[in-house]
Order: sequence, then structure tokens, then C-alpha cells
Amino acid sequence: MSSTRPQHAPMDQFAVVDDCLQVGGMPLPQLAARVGQTPFYAYERRLLDERVARLRTTLPAGIELHYAVKANPMPAVVQHLAGRVDGLDVASLGELKVALDSGMNPAEISFAGPGKRPPELAAALAAGITVNLESAGELESLARLGREQGRRPRVAVRVNPDFELKASGMKMAGGPKPFGVDAEQVPALLRRIGELGLDFQGFHIFTGAQNLRAEAIVEAHDRIFELALRLASAAPGPLHLLNIGGGFGIPYFPGDTPLDLAPIAANLDRWLPLVHERLPGVRVVLELGRYLVGEAGIYVAEVVDRKVSRGQTFLITNGGLHHHLAASGNFGQVIRKNYPVVVGNRVNGMERETVTVVGPLCTPLDLLAERMELAKADVGDLIVVFQSGAYGLTASPSAFLSHPPCLEVLV
Ligand SMILES: *Cc1c(COP(=O)(O)O)cnc(C)c1O
Repeated sequence: MSSTRPQHAPMDQFAVVDDCLQVGGMPLPQLAARVGQTPFYAYERRLLDERVARLRTTLPAGIELHYAVKANPMPAVVQHLAGRVDGLDVASLGELKVALDSGMNPAEISFAGPGKRPPELAAALAAGITVNLESAGELESLARLGREQGRRPRVAVRVNPDFELKASGMKMAGGPKPFGVDAEQVPALLRRIGELGLDFQGFHIFTGAQNLRAEAIVEAHDRIFELALRLASAAPGPLHLLNIGGGFGIPYFPGDTPLDLAPIAANLDRWLPLVHERLPGVRVVLELGRYLVGEAGIYVAEVVDRKVSRGQTFLITNGGLHHHLAASGNFGQVIRKNYPVVVGNRVNGMERETVTVVGPLCTPLDLLAERMELAKADVGDLIVVFQSGAYGLTASPSAFLSHPPCLEVLV
């Protein structure tokens, strides 16, 4: 009867040996001992490399890959990816520091996000990175700082298109938005960039995130290329850069299936010759966050107590929403669903039970798994939350309830 219920996509990126999850080339309890504490996040280099390689072999050679640092700004992760992707996209001064520390060529770093303040713009200018302009006000501030520093700002225009990405987990474009410049206002902004004599790079058109439907991404790419070609006629110079956003999703919840890259690749392959004919020398960039890092990471917490309350079994762990808000269901989800979770040191476990896994916070929001069938676990066992490489620790309210901090390791 349970066979008709939606299931989690198989989590086979980590091997299981003797019923124990292998992470970073060792059994999970050994890794926990190596880390020296629970809870922790672990990200695998091997999985980061495999993901980049899969994108490189599937997508046309003319597509460049950028990493959106926001998804996981751990310096070691950014450093590792910096050697494998073509550029980094940042959205704050803090992320810019991590990106520059990684050794990435500043010319391949871009800075998006609304409300960039003068110190952020001044730092971007001094570093020589590209600023993705989000408003006319930002353009004037940057131009003024450029005159003061005696430097010519490198700019791209982030466009808020006149369409939405369908079936996107998070819509970030179309309609009234704080992000980007409305497509209809872009020609005037381009004229102003020309008057101010700034170094115009191109367009950034980001439409949304966490999309699992290839046909929706294909349609968005069609509309993005059409819009970019239309707007390019008003540009103050040739386009060097066309950032077509990302939005590639990963399966989190029961019933989610992995994104099929093949139709997206075929559509890009179809567009590139026309784009290169109309915009000679342009570099087409995909900026991906979650898709590059999300499946490469796990969150690990330790069972500290188990109890039965009115027939329901609870596993209480030392980790929870203060480290992993998304898994608790409180990071933008409308209906709470379980992330894929296992007992990492007894994955398949002969004895199974239905349990609710919670954290130590004194709030009913602190859930890691609700009425999920897991191997029977006891105090000291390790609860693993998969799909935790993106929007994990830095997207969580670490200070809430003043528990000890979490660690992160790249293995
Ligand atoms: C958040 C963000 C991304 C990354 O989105 P993912 O869903 O993690 O791929 C990329 N570009 C911009 C502009 C963003 O704001």
C-alpha cells in the first residue's frame, strides 16, 4: 500500500559499505571522529567534480559556467570550484572577499543583488570586477565613485524580463520585482551608460531558482535569448557577456525527479550559432548555485535521546533548524515535506520504525524528519540529511537559542 506513495529520488551519490554511509572515503562514524564533533556539514570534492564534469560534457562547449557563491560560501568550497568553473557570481562584500581570495580572475567575477551600498560599489570598482546594475540609482552611484577613483566601472545590466519562469521553486523575475531593471526601462539605462562612458559588458537575466522541469527552463532560455537580442540593439557597444541565469533544481522531496539536462543542452546548441552570429564575440554564461553544490553535501547530527509520546517515537538530535533551516521546512516552503534522511551508520537497518526526528530547540518548528521510516536508531547514532550542500548553514539562524556552532568540512 505504501508503494503508491511518492518516494524520494534515490540518494546513491554516497556509497554504503556494511550498511554504513561512506563520506570522504571513510565510514561516517570515522569522519565524525575526524571532525571532532557533531553536528557538522560535509561536502565532497569528488561529487563537486562529477557535477561540473557532467555539465561540461552535456552542455555545448560554448556555454560557460559560473558558480553563484550564495548557495555555499564556505571558502574551501569556493576555492575548489574556482579552479573548475569559468567565473564566480557574488552578492555581497563578504562573498566578494571569498571570491577574490580564491584566486579567480577578477574579470570573471560579477556582483549582483539589489541595494549595493557605496562601500560595496567602491570595492567592486577597486577589484575590477563586473557590477550587475540593478537600478538607475546604482548606475549613478557607481559612475560617481568611478570618477573619484579614476577608474572606469565595468558594468552589466540585470534585466527584469517581461515574462516569468514557469514552475520555478522561487520566482525572481517578471512583474514588479526588486531585482534588476524592468526590460522596458533598459534602453534608457543603456543610453545613460553610453553617456557616462562606462565599460559595458552585457546583460544578466536571471529568472528563478529550483526548477526541476526541463521544458520550463528551455522556454525561459528561448525568451531570454529573444529579449537579449532585442535589447542589444540599444546597447552602447558590443556585448561581451550574456548571463542567462540558472535555476537548475535538485530533487528534495518525495515525488521530485532529477532535472533532465538533455533538452536544455539541445536547445542551447540550437541557439548558440544564431546568438554568435548576431552578437559576435559574446560569451554565454550559466550561473548555477544549488545545482553545483546541493547534492554534494550532507548534514550530520547525533541522536541524544529517544522517547515515545502518545504512541509516536521521537529521536532528539543535537542538530536542527538553527543549522539547517531548509530541512526543517521553514526556508520558503509552503507545505512542509521531509528532506531525504537516513541513519548514516545503519542505512538500511534490519529493524525499521517510523519516527519523528527533531532538534534540541524549544520550538515545534525544529523538525528534521516527520513520521519517516528509518532504521531503528538509538542514542549515539548519526542522522544524515542529504541534499544539504546548498542553502544550509549560512541560510540558517545559527544564533537562535544559543546552541554551539556547527562545523563544515570539505572532504
Ligand atoms: C540565488 C541566485 C543564484 C543561484 O540560484 P540557485 O538556485 O542556487 O542556482 C544565481 N543568480 C542569482 C542572481 C541569484 O540571486
